[in-house]
Amino acid sequence: MCENDTYVNFVAKVGAALAKSNRITIEGLTLCTIRFIKSILMQKFKLCSYWVLATMLLMSALAHAQQRPSKHAKVKNIILMIGDGMGAAQVFAAYTAQKGQLHMTNFPVTGFSLTQSASHYITDSGAGGTAIATGTRTYNGAIGVDMNKQPLTSILEIAKQNGLATGFVVSCAVTHATPAAFYAHQGSRAQDEDIAADLLKTQPDVAIGGGYKFFAHRKDGRNLIEELKQMNYQIADSTADLSRYTSGKLVALMAYGHPVKVSAGRGELLAKGTQTALNILSQNRKGFFLMVEGSQIDWGGHDNDFDYMLQETIDFDKAVGIALEFAKKNGNTLVIVTADHETGGLALTEGNIAEGKVGGKFISKDHTAVMVPVFAYGPGAEAFAGVQLNTDLFKKMLNAYRFKK
Ligand SMILES: [Zn+2]
Repeated sequence: MCENDTYVNFVAKVGAALAKSNRITIEGLTLCTIRFIKSILMQKFKLCSYWVLATMLLMSALAHAQQRPSKHAKVKNIILMIGDGMGAAQVFAAYTAQKGQLHMTNFPVTGFSLTQSASHYITDSGAGGTAIATGTRTYNGAIGVDMNKQPLTSILEIAKQNGLATGFVVSCAVTHATPAAFYAHQGSRAQDEDIAADLLKTQPDVAIGGGYKFFAHRKDGRNLIEELKQMNYQIADSTADLSRYTSGKLVALMAYGHPVKVSAGRGELLAKGTQTALNILSQNRKGFFLMVEGSQIDWGGHDNDFDYMLQETIDFDKAVGIALEFAKKNGNTLVIVTADHETGGLALTEGNIAEGKVGGKFISKDHTAVMVPVFAYGPGAEAFAGVQLNTDLFKKMLNAYRFKK
């Protein structure tokens, strides 16, 4: 049948164009449509129903294509988001509580990360953060150093060396293990004051979290807040409205020690901090690297406090939503959501997605060995599919930027 041939031909052409590239040009579509009309007129077929069907198919294909970034776009920016202690059960607990509406489970590419450290089957956040940040497995408790305590260069530092803007946003003290692994080099995660001093050496453009005391009230008598001001940093404290900051360099220490739980009134620190960091870092035309950590998912697990873990995971997902929204508009931004390890050995034992109710049990007060989810969105996201070592995340980010180590 000619009618069918024409119709099938048209849909096949559009399908092939979409398959070839997720970016379909308006010119290409127009040309395709004109050819189709021409073929109908020439053949004088009554193809009204086919037209409607083809248009509907085309519209849905286009809507789908718009949501998916181009595989071939260049990666300018990377937003790496780490849910500390966030295994698959933590993600699915949040998914259930949110009645199936979660940003991270909407990512088109998914994989797993193997979290083991060089010294232990079960990692801590120091070694876990260092593996992701530097591509090298090290001993538990290490911050940005190898087994011989030699410094390792992090993805944040490499991005900075290449002229990109850099920053991080966390819901713990900025000196805590995960963020520290991206800018500090110390033998032990317990050296908060030494880690704080390393922030002034690495000088990321944006640092948002807690930990004022490690900068202002130190054993060595240095006042790092004053030193930061002399380095042209804007300093924000817990009273500051983060949305005021749209350019320049910013260190925001929103708590004396660790910020409180989100359920105890932390507010939108993580989501607003992520938005502020994106506003500032995206001013750099070369691009940026941003790390965001949902730090207290882990602490809910250590406390075996299901609601604490749940609220922190939902709070983290709000920040993921901010990052995703930016990436969708920007087109050159790769977003990776993962964890350094699972905490608590959580199992979900009851739930109802329609009602948003969920409950579970922890079997450990510590971290566990299971592999953790990896979600990726944006150009180069496909590289993060499958099962990978935590150190592969660093290597794949480096490749996405086309940087050499
Ligand atoms: Zn932990």
